[in-house]
Amino acid sequence: MELIILGSAAATPIKERNLSSIALRFRNQIFIFDCGEDFQRKFAEAGLKFNKPMKIFITHFHGDHLLGLPPFLFRMSLNDRTAPMMIFGPRNLFLYLYLHKKILGLKANYPLKIIEIDHQTQELIEFDGLDSEIPRNTIKMNDNIVLDSKYFSIKYALVEHSVITFAYAFIEKPRYGKFNPDHARDLGIPESNLWKKLQEGQIIDFNGQIIDPVKEGIVGPKRPGRKITYSGDLAPSESLIKLGIDSDIIIHEATFSKRLTETAKEKKHSTSVDAAYDAKKMGAKQLILTHISARYQSDALILLEEAKEIFPNTILAEDLLKIELK
Ligand SMILES: [Zn+2]
Ligand SMILES: [Zn+2]
Repeated sequence: MELIILGSAAATPIKERNLSSIALRFRNQIFIFDCGEDFQRKFAEAGLKFNKPMKIFITHFHGDHLLGLPPFLFRMSLNDRTAPMMIFGPRNLFLYLYLHKKILGLKANYPLKIIEIDHQTQELIEFDGLDSEIPRNTIKMNDNIVLDSKYFSIKYALVEHSVITFAYAFIEKPRYGKFNPDHARDLGIPESNLWKKLQEGQIIDFNGQIIDPVKEGIVGPKRPGRKITYSGDLAPSESLIKLGIDSDIIIHEATFSKRLTETAKEKKHSTSVDAAYDAKKMGAKQLILTHISARYQSDALILLEEAKEIFPNTILAEDLLKIELK
């Protein structure tokens, strides 16, 4: 599991920083949170593969988080993509992409699902590709979970900003314990499909003998899953704390220094100190400051120092920074 910062600038890109985008590699899939302008270039520079199953999550409809998505999708259709893609975001996400089809001829010749999150009705509105304006499905949401699978779930929270904005959390399900192959061999179980079952903690019937891999010590007890939360743009919001509780990493916007607290409030953004207090309140292990204003091009370390006074395990996002989550 690897986290890659593809863009760490707020509003205006600078030489060192592209606009907001975060990638997460997990079990042969790529998760992308926000698609700032030209993020496809950073995507390629990061060495990420284009023809992989992908899930994209848009926090809100401000250009610096979204304008990179259509060019990325144009590239996908040129690339003869075959892997499936899902794109999640606020209402009107389909319309935004559909206009690119109508006017610019955007195509999706691969399995594509566009899923709008309707916070008011607590529904997910699912569109199949770009062909039909009529949604294929409307699904009632449960506990703000927008996607749930065997290995992870994705949850969102509505946060305080100047337009409808979501924060997202990637929550890994508890993992199987460590597998001890020698022990399985000692019990005479041959390397086969049975091993796979044992690795997943399943009780097996081996020639009439019932074997519980946890009790037998073939696998260790389950380990807690990892959790990564991404704030999007926001003014301090209780809903973010709730969403991000016990995160391994919180990636939090820090557009301004504490010296510009009033400006941050006015523009419904956060300061580095707000980010640090949020990380502390949610009991996060590590804080990554991102969405850095161009005004700090030469002295972004101010933001880091301010945050560290409150939350010591803080780092500053840099484009193409990679973090391996053990
Ligand atoms: Zn922004
Ligand atoms: Zn914004």
